Amino acid sequence: MNPFAYARPGSVDEALRLGSQPGARYVAGGTNLLDLVKAGVETPRLLVDVSRLPLAEVTALPDGGLRLGAMVSNTDAANHARVRERYPLLAQALLSGASGQLRNMATVGGNLLQRTRCHYFYDLGFPACNKRKPGSGCGARDGINRIHAILGASEHCIAVHPSDMCVALAALEAVIVVRTTAGERRIPIGDFHRLPGDTPQCDTMLAPGELIVAIDLPPSPYAAHAHYLKVRDRSSFAFALVSVAAALELDGNRVRSARLALGGVAHKPWRVPAAERALAGRPLSAHSAADAARLLLDGAQPYAHNAFKIGLAQRAVALALQVASRQTGAQA
Ligand code: SF4
Repeated sequence: MNPFAYARPGSVDEALRLGSQPGARYVAGGTNLLDLVKAGVETPRLLVDVSRLPLAEVTALPDGGLRLGAMVSNTDAANHARVRERYPLLAQALLSGASGQLRNMATVGGNLLQRTRCHYFYDLGFPACNKRKPGSGCGARDGINRIHAILGASEHCIAVHPSDMCVALAALEAVIVVRTTAGERRIPIGDFHRLPGDTPQCDTMLAPGELIVAIDLPPSPYAAHAHYLKVRDRSSFAFALVSVAAALELDGNRVRSARLALGGVAHKPWRVPAAERALAGRPLSAHSAADAARLLLDGAQPYAHNAFKIGLAQRAVALALQVASRQTGAQA
């Protein structure tokens, strides 16, 4: 492991000053970053520990939404009464991720920055990984790619984003609040994560030194009818092969509006507005769900070992919508 310096700033301003130094990385729960440092995948010169900053509050917003401070743990976010009551989709997604111990340590700010679980990325024994070493190639394209992307990939990287929380945030149209030395900026979740293109080493739109301070959830009409469905190899502890965040605003059996996001299929949570429009104004049925699934997966391109994800995602969308339509409130 490379040597690095460690600092624990006492304020956001001090964190920003330290975090803007070359080679600095913010660390909070450390549940992903420290594994990467130990493996030699990440080699920071300075770890800026932001875990003690006063960013661990859940507060009501004037518009009726909710703000999650970036240092709120995944456990506290999932179990917060207002999250469970008003955003059960988010609570379900958080509780489906990792283990209890990891959820206690992990923060919602750090969850946004989880790196892919591609095996070739984590193992320095594989020389080809454009995300770890730009220009080295992609070991997964012609390797074992069962867990990899079927949508939005590029010839340079076919990795998927691993977070469950972010899939729910995409469906809920959350906004990421970021501080820089120049002030604050707000990034819609749909613009926060990137597709790999020819720069797969960049997972998000964050600039060096920028610090996530909060996640804002807008008021939601989807509390009564929402379901997060995660399909994985083992139920105890595994990343999603495919996941679906489904949220419905119903008028009887007729869908007034819908939100759908897929996880486990792309380098970012995958939303297709046309799929949501295909559900609106119609009774929810097997037919309308199949239409939505088809639009969500339009253009899917499987690799040697992951063609199963297309049919799996279609079936998961149909089931998630069916379960969401039956929900009547907080289910987490
Ligand atoms: Fe690296 Fe991406 Fe290829 Fe995995 S899929 S080996 S992360 S470039």
